Amino acid sequence: MSFCVSDQQQSLGNAASTSTRPTKRTKTAGAASNVTEATAPQKTPVLMGMRGEYAAGGFLDMPVEILFEIFGWARPEDLLSLTRTSKPLRSILRNRRTALSTWKSAFARHYPDMPACPPGMDEPRYARFMCSRECHGECEGLAGEGETRAFWYLRVRYCQPCLDKRVINRIDSKAPYYHCVPIEYVFPAASAPYRRPQYLLGDVESFNRQLDELPPGEERDAFIEREEERMRGLHEHVAKCMKWEREQNMKHHAELARIRERRFDGIVQRIVDLGYGDELDRMESEEFRSLVRVDDHSREQELTDREWDRIELDIVGYLKRRRSEEETERRGDAACEAEA
Ligand SMILES: [Zn+2]
Repeated sequence: MSFCVSDQQQSLGNAASTSTRPTKRTKTAGAASNVTEATAPQKTPVLMGMRGEYAAGGFLDMPVEILFEIFGWARPEDLLSLTRTSKPLRSILRNRRTALSTWKSAFARHYPDMPACPPGMDEPRYARFMCSRECHGECEGLAGEGETRAFWYLRVRYCQPCLDKRVINRIDSKAPYYHCVPIEYVFPAASAPYRRPQYLLGDVESFNRQLDELPPGEERDAFIEREEERMRGLHEHVAKCMKWEREQNMKHHAELARIRERRFDGIVQRIVDLGYGDELDRMESEEFRSLVRVDDHSREQELTDREWDRIELDIVGYLKRRRSEEETERRGDAACEAEA
């Protein structure tokens, strides 16, 4: 799962900059502010008032229908990136009434097996949680992708310092929130032998606030019952998400293995094509593998022409030296035999 503005999004920008305005007067996101109330499009009121300093170049001058057509091809994480590029795009894509189907189709198209967005979460938040590895805490994404982890029950992704700031781990099992607020069992340190239960401070405060607003009695009991039911739903959804993630990891590792294999075979073929097949045949297995995997850092990249150009010099240089050494050795042996 990558979090970046995709090539597709970059092409959106290009499309926007090169698009020609339709000769026919057409409803556009940027032009929406000029539409009078009587003629304003009923389906996209959020688009009104978006021209001005926040207009994203010519992009928002495109007809709204075209914008949504383009959004329909984006990945959820790309839609999320788009919401951060300008206020108008944020308004368009955060409007549940107009953009919900766009988000849903992005999930369905690019993550067909992903469990559906659960109640209590909207699609942009779900995309941020499921499709991105950025930290949701105060470091504001400064933590690297490899430094964060998903806390499935808390439905957040934090780096360790942010987690430490946002959770409480002194649990009061007699408190009303005990079964009503998401809880995650976390190893407090890598070497810790036991997991410790942790709540998000915000979840506990929110629950307590809502509870305090209710009079003691049936209403409170009903509220607690609803929250307990919500937690049961959460557990079911987390189980699906964790299963989905395991399957994604397995697919990912299988794909990496296939790439490594294709790369290995491709390098061997190019060496043979260059006339060094005999040298390869005479190599010990370890030397052979070490040569073909000359650059371990890129073992999981497809062998493109450009990639081959990058590593060819090292590989062919080694083979030339080896051939030269073998010839020197052969000449030496021949001279010895002649003397004998
Ligand atoms: Zn963080």
